Amino acid sequence: MPAADAVNRDNVYPDSYYAASVEMPAQRDQLQGHQEAEVCIVGAGFSGLSAGLFLQEQGCRVVVLEAQRVGWGASGRNGGQLINGFNGGIDFLQDYFSGCSTSIADLHMAGGDYLRQILERYSIDCDYRPGHVTVAYSRKHMQGLAEEARLCREHNIPGYQLLDADALQACVGSKLYAGGLLDSLGGHLHPLKLALGEAQALEQLGGQIFEHSPVVSIDKKGEKQQISTASGQVIAGQVILCGNAYLGQLSKPLAARVMPAATQVMATESLPEELAREILPADMCIADCRYILDYYRLSADRRLLFGGGTVYGGVAPADIIGKLRPNMLNVFPQLADVKIDYAWSGNIAITNNRHAQLGRLDDNLYFAHGYCGHGVNVTHLFGKLLADAIGGETALFDLFAGVPWSGFPGGQRFRVPYSVAGSWWYGLRDRLGM
Ligand SMILES: Cc1cc2nc3c(=O)[nH]c(=O)nc-3n(C[C@H](O)[C@H](O)[C@H](O)COP(=O)(O)OP(=O)(O)OC[C@H]3O[C@@H](n4cnc5c(N)ncnc54)[C@H](O)[C@@H]3O)c2cc1C
Repeated sequence: MPAADAVNRDNVYPDSYYAASVEMPAQRDQLQGHQEAEVCIVGAGFSGLSAGLFLQEQGCRVVVLEAQRVGWGASGRNGGQLINGFNGGIDFLQDYFSGCSTSIADLHMAGGDYLRQILERYSIDCDYRPGHVTVAYSRKHMQGLAEEARLCREHNIPGYQLLDADALQACVGSKLYAGGLLDSLGGHLHPLKLALGEAQALEQLGGQIFEHSPVVSIDKKGEKQQISTASGQVIAGQVILCGNAYLGQLSKPLAARVMPAATQVMATESLPEELAREILPADMCIADCRYILDYYRLSADRRLLFGGGTVYGGVAPADIIGKLRPNMLNVFPQLADVKIDYAWSGNIAITNNRHAQLGRLDDNLYFAHGYCGHGVNVTHLFGKLLADAIGGETALFDLFAGVPWSGFPGGQRFRVPYSVAGSWWYGLRDRLGM
């Protein structure tokens, strides 16, 4: 059994089902010596790759520097659930974008739309399947989902349907839930295939990606920025920081804005067709409404990929299977004898108000981060907005950059224990059905 966070055949990616099921490209060169670029992007996850792809499409020359390999971070190891909209739901959009010339419906769908356009434009095969369902444990959860469905109708957001417990059986073969909210325009995909496909598209357009090239400093040189690794530098007109939960202390202002939190996924062996159809008859992805939630789906080869857990501070638990398996059996007791083939952990970046952030630290130093577990979709919207802003179209970028944020109570030193206490309280409320 591969251990959590062990390394796989090329000694870099975590030992995930994803790394084991892609055609692994040759390692890209490490940055050596001097390079020039219009835009230098730090981090080759969905944020950096989508921003780079949109910039290259605009004819802007991009160099991406990745500390490990393309998709090594959250982007290549996540649950693969494309959940339309934002953390905070339609309320978030109503609060900050009501007067905006782009409609609430278009903003809600934008990230997923950009992602699907990329899949089509570059023929990226990443096992995309339509359909996402948020499932409810309690009447209180159902009331929340009914309100979300009402807001979707009010704003003409397509694809949503409230399901009672009986109707939900067509999507999830478990008796646990009180009902759910189906988003037929959500979906699921193999995230590492997506990241590798986006990287290849970026390079085909003339962009460059260097792997094994951790950026150690960024210094303003006149009008430009110098981005340095141990073995080279890029001089660029603009820089975008896309390290998200893995950026560490490269930028102190950004480190204070986000907190890494580890979440885990395990993959069963391939299930017999009948059993796979019994547990997930519509082959959609599922996430529940609780504060510490379960999220799961089938892979293209019929494994159940079951995720959950949040460890504030970003430390992987020693026994991922021991932690996730009881949760899986709670939902699907019929999987008691099924073997677990892979288990891994990865870090998401959480913000204090749980809203994703993008903005500028200087006139030519941009960032995007803090997707709070909703990044498959929102990274692609932020990638587009970053490219637009660098191209001179700043209206929507400025609106997102203006969303208020606050630091964590306790600062960088005590935010982990504060968050653990808060999470215990919200977890208790979930268990009591409050
Ligand atoms: C286990 C797990 C499950 C998840 N499930 C879902 C889900 O189902 N749906 C969903 O929407 N979201 C999910 N997420 C969240 C989602 O994966 C992220 O929000 C998204 O991938 C963030 O993309 P990113 O490009 O901003 O960051 P990342 O993908 O983390 O990429 C950051 C990259 O920056 C690089 N980097 C950092 N510092 C430097 C440096 N100094 N120099 C060079 N490179 C650097 C890192 O090596 C890394 O590759 C999940 C996350 C995890 C970990």
